[in-house]
Amino acid sequence: MNRHLLGTVAAAVVLGQSLCAQDVAATLKAAEYALGMVRGPQRIDPINTFEYWGTGSTHAFGQAYRPGMPWPAFKVTYHASLSYAVPAMRVDVTRSNPEGLVQGGGGLPLAAPQRQIQVVSGGFAWNESTPGAGFSPGTTATPAPGTANDRLLQLWTTPFGVLKMAVEAGAKAKLAVEGGLNTITFPFSDATVKMTLNAKQQVERVETRSDNPVLGDTVTETTYSDYKDLGEIPSDVLFPSHILEKQGGFPVLDLTVTKTDPNNPYVVFPVPDNVEHAAQTPAPVKVDVQKVAAGVWYLTGGSHHSVAVEFKNYMVLVECPLNDERALMVLDTVKKTIPNKPVRYVVNTHHHFDHLGGLRACVAQGATIITQAENRPYYETVWAQPHTLNPDRLAKSPSKPVIETVTDKRVLTDGTQSLELYHLQGSNHAGTMLIAYVPKAKVLIEADVFNPAPANAPPGPVVQENVNLYENLKRLNLDVQQITPLHGRMVSIADLHRALGEK
Ligand SMILES: [Zn+2]
Repeated sequence: MNRHLLGTVAAAVVLGQSLCAQDVAATLKAAEYALGMVRGPQRIDPINTFEYWGTGSTHAFGQAYRPGMPWPAFKVTYHASLSYAVPAMRVDVTRSNPEGLVQGGGGLPLAAPQRQIQVVSGGFAWNESTPGAGFSPGTTATPAPGTANDRLLQLWTTPFGVLKMAVEAGAKAKLAVEGGLNTITFPFSDATVKMTLNAKQQVERVETRSDNPVLGDTVTETTYSDYKDLGEIPSDVLFPSHILEKQGGFPVLDLTVTKTDPNNPYVVFPVPDNVEHAAQTPAPVKVDVQKVAAGVWYLTGGSHHSVAVEFKNYMVLVECPLNDERALMVLDTVKKTIPNKPVRYVVNTHHHFDHLGGLRACVAQGATIITQAENRPYYETVWAQPHTLNPDRLAKSPSKPVIETVTDKRVLTDGTQSLELYHLQGSNHAGTMLIAYVPKAKVLIEADVFNPAPANAPPGPVVQENVNLYENLKRLNLDVQQITPLHGRMVSIADLHRALGEK
């Protein structure tokens, strides 16, 4: 190619880019006008803080009653306050049980309506007992450092937020037309945001992707519809009266917005001292080992526990929760505690994401997964999904999962040790729940259906899942003496009786 021609090509590329950049800028400006963010001939951006109120439902992601079902719902009243300048967001939600039969995890059913206040401010995230908690006696702010990125993403995917981010992205924002609608794509943090505008140039849909230990690259898509001026003082500022957010294909938020308030100067987000302190000294992730009986180890620490059972030539691990990080730490601890015996089987109690999030790491290590029969097709499907955003161990060295199943009962035995696995009937927490029993040690291992309260807590109301567990123990004729719950602390069968209101 001669120099002249090269020059022509280069000029065309530069011209093409600048035309394209102008199109993006003009489209974003039109979108800002459409929502009343820009007034007058100069570009003035009057939305600094914003509040909205509504009612609807939030849903417990990863906590479906059966694998592949929608996430279970809470009924909610919802109030979000946000500041694009800080940036910060406070979501104040009162959750209650939905109508009818309540099935699934995530804390359902609630014993009483429950208020949750979740805040992010800059890089800090915490939960408040009352709005603005942590500064006056009797109020508490609980650090939630792992949630800051998700909460900030929530802020930046609101209609005003996503437009501000797209403007900020400058030349990195790309315009396309899909199905006659303008779409703008731009990088944000380590992911990509895709925004679709409707025919009126209002933000109609925002799509992002993030990593999930179970689903891999997971799409979050929020649809905004039926824009209105919902302020008490009439203005040009329009906000969607319906917000539908889906994650992994099912709703996580379905909100009818009833009121908005732009630019309230009292929307503030001071960071409590203890939250700042916690961010500087993160709690160490660890596994504590407690020998329960001959050949039975309780592996605790953090929110989710595991139990290791020793056989003649191998180990069986009951539960490998959360994610790669926790899984690797638990597997390592088993190896150090009982050297020279590989973890041959990993028993998964149920399909809730917090309980199955470490299984991929176990597959990568060559363990056979044992789960309730209904889970197998679901696990095979979701584990085949791409993990490009945050490749885990299995994504880095792929191997085909070996999954064995339990329909109602299975016994692992080698003549010296045995472990009995049963499908828990009648649970409203998870349709696929397995419990495990070590007959030699008379130890029961269970997840989520009996979470013992701290030792000196006053007795609470009787929980139906506890009653159901007890009925299953009677049905199966199990002589349980100790219980190693996968949340909470080791207790005796007497603690279950006490929880059932018996003396
Ligand atoms: Zn669960």
